Amino acid sequence: MKYCQMLKIGRIISPIKKFIFPFDCIVCGKAGDYLCESCFKLLPIRESDLCPYCEKEKTSLGGICQKCARIKSNCLDGALVATYYDHPVIKELIKDVKFNRFKNGAEYLARVLYQKIASYPEFPLKNFVFTSTPIHSKKFDIRGFNQTELVLAELQKLLLKKNINIKINNNLLLKKNFHNAQSKTKTLFERRENIKNTFIVNEKITLPKNIIVLDDVMTTGSTLNEIARTLKKKGADNVWGLVIAREVFIGADGEI
Ligand SMILES: [Zn+2]
Ligand SMILES: [Zn+2]
Repeated sequence: MKYCQMLKIGRIISPIKKFIFPFDCIVCGKAGDYLCESCFKLLPIRESDLCPYCEKEKTSLGGICQKCARIKSNCLDGALVATYYDHPVIKELIKDVKFNRFKNGAEYLARVLYQKIASYPEFPLKNFVFTSTPIHSKKFDIRGFNQTELVLAELQKLLLKKNINIKINNNLLLKKNFHNAQSKTKTLFERRENIKNTFIVNEKITLPKNIIVLDDVMTTGSTLNEIARTLKKKGADNVWGLVIAREVFIGADGEI
C-alpha cells in the first residue's frame, strides 16, 4: 500500500478511535482513559501524618503539634494531606483540572482524597461541614468553575457509595481581595501578609462550629491558616484542612 493511502485510512480510523477512546493514559499511553487503572494505582498516598505547620512532628490525623499550637497566629486544628505535589502525575492532574484542560480529572483527585480518608475511619467526618477554598468572583467568571468545588462534589459521591453522607456548604466564605499570586512571595512571612484579610465570612449563613476546608495544594499553609483565622473570628470552633497535595516550600531565608 502506498504511504499516501495508509495516511488516508489513518485519517479515517483516527477520529473513530478517538471517539471510542477519547484519551490516552498520560503515563503509559494506553488508549481509553486519561489515567488508566494500573497507573492510577501507582499514585502515592501519604502514609504518615505530620503537623501542618512544622511538617516535622508526627501527629494523629495531621493535627497541630503542641509546640505549633502555642503560636497564637496558627489557627488550623490540623490538615489531612493525601499526597505529594512533587509527584509529576499529581502535579499534572491538579493543573489540568484547575486550568480546565481536563475538568473531569476532578474525579481522580477525589479518588486520591478518598483513599486517604478511607484509611482513617476514626475521623469524625459526619460532625463537620465541608467547604471549598473560595476563588475570587472575577477568577470564577473567567474559569467558569472553582476546581475544589468540583473535587468536593466528586468526593461526596464516592463517600455516599459507602453510606457516608457528608454535608457541603460552599457559601461559607467569600474571597474579597485580589492578592498577588502566593507563588511570587519569597518567605513564610510574606505569604501570610499577602493573603491577610482576603476572605470574609458570608453574613447570610449561620456558621457551623466544625468545618473542613478543601484545598488542592498546600505549600506553607498560609491560605488555610488565613481561612481558619477568619472562620474562628466569626465563631467556628474547629477548622481542619483537607488537602490533595503538599508542596515543599523553601523560602528565601531557608525556612521550609
Ligand atoms: Zn497508564
Ligand atoms: Zn508543629
